[in-house]
Amino acid sequence: MAPTSPIFTKIGIIGAGVSAPLTSNRLTETKEYSFPSHLEVLDYLNSYARHFDVLKCVRFNSKVVALRYLGGKTTTDKMDTPEEYGSLLSGHPVWEVAVQTNNSDEIQLYNFEFVVMCLGMYGDVAMMPEFPEKKGPEIFEGKVLHTIDYCKLDKDATSDLIKNKKVSVIGYKKSAIDLALECALQNQGSEGKPCTLVVRTLHWAIPHYWIWGLPFFLFNSTMSLQFPLEKPNQSILRLLFSSLFSPLLRQAASKLMESYLLRKLPLEKYGLKPEHPFVEDYASCQMAVIPEKFIPEAEKGNIVFKKASNWWFWEKGIEFEDKSKIEADVVILATGYDGNKKLQAIMPESFRSLVDYPSGLIPLYRGTIHPLIPNMGFIGYVETVSNLHSSEMRSMWLSRLVDKKFKLPGVPTMLDKTLKEMEAMKRTTRFYKRNCISIYNVNHNDEICEEMGWTAWKKKTWVSEAFSKFRTKGYFN
Ligand SMILES: Cc1cc2nc3c(=O)[nH]c(=O)nc-3n(C[C@H](O)[C@H](O)[C@H](O)COP(=O)(O)OP(=O)(O)OC[C@H]3O[C@@H](n4cnc5c(N)ncnc54)[C@H](O)[C@@H]3O)c2cc1C
Repeated sequence: MAPTSPIFTKIGIIGAGVSAPLTSNRLTETKEYSFPSHLEVLDYLNSYARHFDVLKCVRFNSKVVALRYLGGKTTTDKMDTPEEYGSLLSGHPVWEVAVQTNNSDEIQLYNFEFVVMCLGMYGDVAMMPEFPEKKGPEIFEGKVLHTIDYCKLDKDATSDLIKNKKVSVIGYKKSAIDLALECALQNQGSEGKPCTLVVRTLHWAIPHYWIWGLPFFLFNSTMSLQFPLEKPNQSILRLLFSSLFSPLLRQAASKLMESYLLRKLPLEKYGLKPEHPFVEDYASCQMAVIPEKFIPEAEKGNIVFKKASNWWFWEKGIEFEDKSKIEADVVILATGYDGNKKLQAIMPESFRSLVDYPSGLIPLYRGTIHPLIPNMGFIGYVETVSNLHSSEMRSMWLSRLVDKKFKLPGVPTMLDKTLKEMEAMKRTTRFYKRNCISIYNVNHNDEICEEMGWTAWKKKTWVSEAFSKFRTKGYFN
């Protein structure tokens, strides 16, 4: 492939998903929807791009195939003082970005002072299960596909694939739950076959955002609940306070949630009651939302559950570790995505290990800057209750940082704070494997706002500040 000569621009944004337009411009107002459909989300993105004239910045059908660090400054000499990071924009190219357009053989090179990675964590690279020898998809006589391929099919193609078929869906997170319902709805009537949901790890799922008649946020996302949480570098007094009150408060909120969910959903009847507290799933962003029709379809027998840690293929279906077998025409792997592989694929060798922190966690300051990777931002690598909202906040923070409205602290401070934050979060849940900040969401946003010079206090009184819903809008008032 022949590279063209480089073009030099200040900032490059890689990725054209949700985070990318947010990085280019920020929302002025957010309308609240409970669960918009995929068509509404698409419509919103299109109107957003038109409104802020983002499309002129987008190169469609283009893929970044490699990044090269052009050097100049190192992370150490970027610091004006040990406690100050210095200017992000250096006035000369720092990154060379190799772009392939329309699968052409020609590679175009672009030089940038600053690069923002918005590659996304839930797409492009499928997480595939491994199988013992001669027990993989190759021996199965039916069809096997990952949700990454299923979601590329149109309505007719999905109907042809699953209607009146014996379908097994592997997984018990958002994609698997939605897909099992889709299969169940396609397989109504006399010829219909139940969809089997193969569940390895049980997690708590919620039916909606109202608990005991009170809004969900009251149990998890208010300042009053987040205030006592353990935070890095807190004073001894605060540490004592958080050690005493935080577990108690979280356990109480968790128990209330669990008692509601067990009353509302027949989790025990179907063997779907997790053994661990609800708060651990919330703290690790493992909590799924159950669509309204899911339980009614299970009650009708159109969705059945098989709990199994291990499974593999046989000619006519899948077999489990207890030697039981089920027949299947189609097996759909809702086993997730490997967002980290995408990063690894284009990062230069010398930086690769920095984005492969143990178990896929990337130590990002404010969820956006890797202290040891110069002139690069990451948007969309933090999970919360609402990823879109977090990406928006971080985009605002990053654009102000690049505009030199505030400075980053020194590399050692950023590293220390970030690693300590990750350790504190790990202590809240055994499932902490990704950058999930749900229980610290309010706290994180407040810190970000303070760093941008905005007030963290959004409400008129401390009572409403402590107990009412978190709103970004208040920051601008
Ligand atoms: C089943 C499911 C349910 C979800 N439900 C919710 C929810 O209820 N609430 C919520 O907030 N979030 C939810 N999410 C997560 C939400 O979809 C993501 O947080 C959001 O899409 C992230 O946006 P993004 O722009 O960071 O990444 P993406 O939307 O994944 O976009 C990344 C883009 O970058 C492109 N790209 C990747 N590599 C390259 C490259 N080398 N060169 C050029 N382009 C590249 C990709 O093709 C893609 O277009 C859900 C996700 C899934 C899978």
